[in-house]
Amino acid sequence: MLAHSYDFHTHSTASDGTLAPEVLIEKACAAGVKLLALTDHDTMKGYQALVKSGYSADLKLITGVELTCKLGKQVVHIVGLNIDADNERLTSHLQMLDQLRMDRAKAIALRLQKAGLPDLLEAAIDCAAGGQIGRPHFARALLDLKLVSDQQQAFKKYLGAGKKGDVKVEWPELASIIDIIKDAGGLSILAHPTKYNLTMNKIRYLVAHYSELGGDALEVGYPAVTPDHQKALSVLVEKHQLLASGGSDFHNPAYHWTSLGCFPGVPGHLPHVLDVVN
Ligand code: AMP
Ligand code: MN
Ligand code: MN
Ligand code: MN
Repeated sequence: MLAHSYDFHTHSTASDGTLAPEVLIEKACAAGVKLLALTDHDTMKGYQALVKSGYSADLKLITGVELTCKLGKQVVHIVGLNIDADNERLTSHLQMLDQLRMDRAKAIALRLQKAGLPDLLEAAIDCAAGGQIGRPHFARALLDLKLVSDQQQAFKKYLGAGKKGDVKVEWPELASIIDIIKDAGGLSILAHPTKYNLTMNKIRYLVAHYSELGGDALEVGYPAVTPDHQKALSVLVEKHQLLASGGSDFHNPAYHWTSLGCFPGVPGHLPHVLDVVN
């Protein structure tokens, strides 16, 4: 895992990360990161709070967000980079997602209650502490009540794919997300393509579709990507004339598998998102 001077995928307390945006920036600086994107799930409130506070740091912060969407039944994550945070279509989309995620949280709490657990809604909302609520906040609520031993177990038992708390909602369509990001002047990046539990053939289909819809880039450097995955993803980047990106998907300093600026490098022969946003 290499230390890089850029990191295009990170999470703060504005979604399911544990560091406040200003602390995250300080730690990124200390780790040698010079170009950073805060890419919280379905919100830019971390970035907006930083701007409002008049932050200053020894790095360049570019705008970012990790948008949840679906292609058919498959949920995928699209990182939008270098987007205009004031774009009206984008801001109204994010507002809609605040509501969608809160409605989903209520549905998750109900489903878990029906499965015999206590009502976790208030605890999950407290864990989210004003940030965009998601399943990890239910995982923390379960952990606080000692109903699970760690976050992994919370997903394995209650929140992961096919479990009671994996409530399906009508996430926006991939096509509209690509369009919204384009409209806001940004670049779209298909996040962690090998983390959707898809076979490589299905990933090829997903990437082909994504590219046809106007997607710009693939994340190729991220924790857990194997050299074999990287080779296959690099072929897809070239085949569809996409750009490649990389980031740590940092959430929590206690997770030893992610740290700011650290992720497997993007193969040098690929056209890089860095060349476009820098
Ligand atoms: P949500 O967007 O609310 O569906 O939550 C998705 C987030 O949950 C991801 O971004 C991860 O941070 C976390 N997550 C997903 N699956 C797992 C898992 N198996 N173990 C731990 N965390 C997970
Ligand atoms: Mn997350
Ligand atoms: Mn993701
Ligand atoms: Mn992420």
